[in-house]
Amino acid sequence: MKTFLLISMLTLSLLSKTNAQPCINNRAPLKIKPNMELPLGSIKPLGWLKQMLISQKNGATGQLDKLYPLVMGPRNGWLGGDGDQWERGPYWIDGLLPLAYILDDDALKAKVQPWIEWAINSQRADGYFGPSKDYSPEKGIQRNNSQDWWPKIVMLKILQQYYSATADDRIIKLMDRYFKYQLKTLPEKPLGHWSFWAEYRSADNLQAVYWLYNITGEQYLLTLGELIHKQGYDFTDMFLNRDDLSRINTIHGVNLAQGIKEPIIYYQKHPDKKYIDAVKKGLADIKKFNGQPQGMYGADEALHGKNPTQGSELCSAVELMFSLEKMLEITGDLQFADHLERIAFNALPTQISDDFMVRQYFQQPNQVKISRNLHNFDINHGETDLVFGFLAGYPCCTSNMHQGWPKFTQNLWYATQDMGIAALVYSPSEVKTKVADGIEIRIIEETNYPFDEKIRFTIHVDNESKIGKFPFHLKIPSWTKSASIFINGQSWNDLLESNSIVVINRTWKSGDVVELTMPMHVETSIWYENAMAVEHGPLVYALKIEELWTKKEVTDDRFRYGDDFYEVNAGSPWNFGIIDFDKEKTQEAFSVIRKKSTPEYPWNLKEAPVEIRVKGKQIPSWTLYNNMAGPQPYSRMIYGMKSYNEQTETELILIPYGCTTLRISEFPVITLYPPLAR
Ligand SMILES: [Zn+2]
Repeated sequence: MKTFLLISMLTLSLLSKTNAQPCINNRAPLKIKPNMELPLGSIKPLGWLKQMLISQKNGATGQLDKLYPLVMGPRNGWLGGDGDQWERGPYWIDGLLPLAYILDDDALKAKVQPWIEWAINSQRADGYFGPSKDYSPEKGIQRNNSQDWWPKIVMLKILQQYYSATADDRIIKLMDRYFKYQLKTLPEKPLGHWSFWAEYRSADNLQAVYWLYNITGEQYLLTLGELIHKQGYDFTDMFLNRDDLSRINTIHGVNLAQGIKEPIIYYQKHPDKKYIDAVKKGLADIKKFNGQPQGMYGADEALHGKNPTQGSELCSAVELMFSLEKMLEITGDLQFADHLERIAFNALPTQISDDFMVRQYFQQPNQVKISRNLHNFDINHGETDLVFGFLAGYPCCTSNMHQGWPKFTQNLWYATQDMGIAALVYSPSEVKTKVADGIEIRIIEETNYPFDEKIRFTIHVDNESKIGKFPFHLKIPSWTKSASIFINGQSWNDLLESNSIVVINRTWKSGDVVELTMPMHVETSIWYENAMAVEHGPLVYALKIEELWTKKEVTDDRFRYGDDFYEVNAGSPWNFGIIDFDKEKTQEAFSVIRKKSTPEYPWNLKEAPVEIRVKGKQIPSWTLYNNMAGPQPYSRMIYGMKSYNEQTETELILIPYGCTTLRISEFPVITLYPPLAR
């Protein structure tokens, strides 16, 4: 108890010290960034986002040490024990730490602290830190490769966040000594010495090196940066010059999610446009050859094409989010902001249960049955890859899923190069920071976004005069056509260009209100076998299917797959197509119905705040195959659907993808006879 008190007091004093520090931009010769991360703890979630983080605290994130003691308990190698020596412990803390400091929760901070203390105290005279002793195999834990570079890369991300929240100087000393050790040791034991993971995930190592360089200015860090880039997997070459993304089974999905940012991390030192072009071509090819409407891609675990019954791993979602967050900070490019929202608001809420206790290893865009059966995936773990469970599939996701929402919250607001503040990704939140020459401000962002098109920002200037001049940057998303901004009820601008950042540079008075309206329109996009996805603003919509949840026991290998899992079966038919319509009349073909109020927790079937209705018909020949939706019917088949003219027309109810567990999100398009002229 005494130690706990001491730690909290220490934390408090350090926190106030941090708030006095300015945000740090890149130091020459690194290219200046348009956006800078704020100290951890400056941004607080409100509304539904706060509910998400509270579920995490009450769910698996807050109690993983109790729920998963074999790995996260005192035997963990990162606590000095003889248990798991590898990535899983650090994975958990990489999400628990930001959660603890964002919620300012002393009990969670106390859970984090021993991991930080052990990491610091483990450092050897030669600069090495972390577990260093291998143990013989034991069921359910990873006890070998203790010296692998990879798990330390995760710990570096944790230490950066801890420093951001506390300004604890021991972190700078530890990282400085460790990076000197890396510089000395990498030539003989390169990134791929123990396993290939660090090679593919070198971007996370490189970003930590540049981060320290910005603080200390030590030149050796730039030399180390070159070495890490050289030893890391060459994603620039892969994206620009090779065809790996158009072929299946070429790269591991999570490696791709983490590696996609490598060219842009490195670009900071070598600001050649080819690095940005490489990432953009990479993202375009991922979408073209493996894309799924919720912002992810078929990779179960290796890259596996566009079929909407291919899986997308939960680790890929949270890692791709982190990559997009970093790339947005460095480039200010709104493509990354929109993509980040696409994953956060569609893929992420559905893959973890509402109570944040169980999750899927893979999710499918057309997911009509979740059961313990063999599916057509690259890998299968005892056929548990689709079911909701604590350890179903593989335990990496149980350990790594925690970083998604806390880091998303942390990236809702940035300090800007011009000494202002930017909101490039939206959700209900509150930010407290300093702008211009040290003016303290608070901005409250009230909204039901992404379900609502309006956001209300209230600005508080916390100095004596209650007045301050600073620029406020706002994103106008690519999907809106006629966004408007009102300040204190007066139109500021009502012809804002989509896919742009507007900068409102004015003298703000405490209590000023900025209202941003981003009208959402129904848009459709084309996917596998010409299937149609329905989008409305940042949300993808999917067929509402009744869910029958059944808890089942694991009877064969509980060490591996946990004690139990949930199967989900459809309680209503799912095999519908959308009847083709005149593209010019898209808005008329769909009707959008909003509930009067947005519930506290909107991400499930019952609470879905918005419905979209459209005319459809059942496709009797489209049935289950291999315990999943059978082969995707080809859309807009010429003269092929005459028999469907007699099929009854129904009104389909679509709800946000993130609210569904079972779904069709890539719809066959039924062409009636005679077909529409197109
Ligand atoms: Zn995983």
